[in-house]
Amino acid sequence: TSAASSATASRSQQLLERNKQWIPGGMASVNRATSPAIAFAKASGAYMWDVDGKKYIDYHAGFAPYILGHSDPDVNAAVVAAMEQGLSNYGSGPTEQEGTLAELFLKCVPTMERVQFYNSGSEATAQSIRVARAFTGRDHVILMQGGYNGNQNVVAINLMDSVEALGGKPVVGGEYPKCPMTAGIPQAELDLLHPVEYNDLEAVEAMVKKYAIAALVMEPVLQNVGVIPPAPGYLEGLRQLADQYGFVLVFDEVKTGFRASLGGYQEVAGVTPDLSTFGKAMANGYPIAALAGKAELLELAVDPDPNRRVLVAGTYNAHPIPVTASLACLKKLSDPSLQLYAQLDQQTETLVSGMRDIFSRQGVEAQVVRQGSAHVAYFGSQAPTNWWELITSHDFAFDAKYRQALIERGIYHFPKPTKQGSVSAAHTSTDIANTLDVIDQVVQSLVEH
Ligand code: PMP
Repeated sequence: TSAASSATASRSQQLLERNKQWIPGGMASVNRATSPAIAFAKASGAYMWDVDGKKYIDYHAGFAPYILGHSDPDVNAAVVAAMEQGLSNYGSGPTEQEGTLAELFLKCVPTMERVQFYNSGSEATAQSIRVARAFTGRDHVILMQGGYNGNQNVVAINLMDSVEALGGKPVVGGEYPKCPMTAGIPQAELDLLHPVEYNDLEAVEAMVKKYAIAALVMEPVLQNVGVIPPAPGYLEGLRQLADQYGFVLVFDEVKTGFRASLGGYQEVAGVTPDLSTFGKAMANGYPIAALAGKAELLELAVDPDPNRRVLVAGTYNAHPIPVTASLACLKKLSDPSLQLYAQLDQQTETLVSGMRDIFSRQGVEAQVVRQGSAHVAYFGSQAPTNWWELITSHDFAFDAKYRQALIERGIYHFPKPTKQGSVSAAHTSTDIANTLDVIDQVVQSLVEH
């Protein structure tokens, strides 16, 4: 009821105001800000509860990590057992569990030869660029318009805000104007970054001819503006350009890793990058990330030549809690008796085909795109193949209203247009059916108004 939802808003709002006394913006990551604010208090399996006890079926999954569902009992049990062992990475020498996790990780992702563990996706992607620069002796980096690769200076440019800078024309075969996501990046660093349109091979070749490119860093599927898959031959073309021109090809699999398949999107595509980064689903929500890649690149960590050696350091690298969580998570994901990827595919397919039926029955022009358990509805006449098509074809206002209406009726998607939905192994067929019922009601009410 509307009385209940305004009470929800005010309690959450009160909590936000309280936190703001001490935390700028009231929360530790301002990317989590929504309007109206909803403060969550609990999550389990496919559900989340806000501070008023209202229950939601969750498809946000905390920006995608919770592939097994929230608070997975097997992951929790492993973590509790590890705590009882006397919790430490000791800060001196190797541990058995980091080696065991590395072995299992590389079994899951057999295209990669070595792996290092970090605490966040941002750290892993920033480190990939450092490694590429050390290896190639070059400084310039190509990034994707509409991609997101973390919060660090070396990647924090060109999300959605630069449309005004384009003068109403797409950029084809060249470089986008640079749009820093943050103040405080020195111009000298920005000069080294070159955003190009996704699915535009010519633009990459143009950058390589113009600048000394160390690395191309990209999400193999653009999943920070929904789900935009690579055109046939695109990733193969990038692989070929990397080989031809000697730059390091980096797949940022922080979102696609362990979601697109056990071996990442690189397994789905059959294209092997030189380096790739992982995070999110690799530990079902515990803070750990990985930089994986070719031995000759990652072994630079211990190169005898100090001019080539790449610093790898961190008090909490391979901290036993997230390492234990990741081990438990990867064991489940790779257990052939559980068939979790088949289950995720099937549940997500049921959801997206149901959504397509609803949109077409209600006369809403929509394209529902799925990659594994990631999915999104684009409201327009075509599924975008790049950022320009997205911003010029997608009905952002309808998307925002659609998300808000779903949230009011207990289906949680992040209330920002184009954010991907994530199905978890905890979503039951009943959850999916209930979700489709709500989507049907919501679309009907939006069409009527
Ligand atoms: N790469 C991609 C593709 C991401 O989606 C994200 C986070 N949304 C990151 C990197 C950064 O990861 P983290 O937030 O763990 O630093």
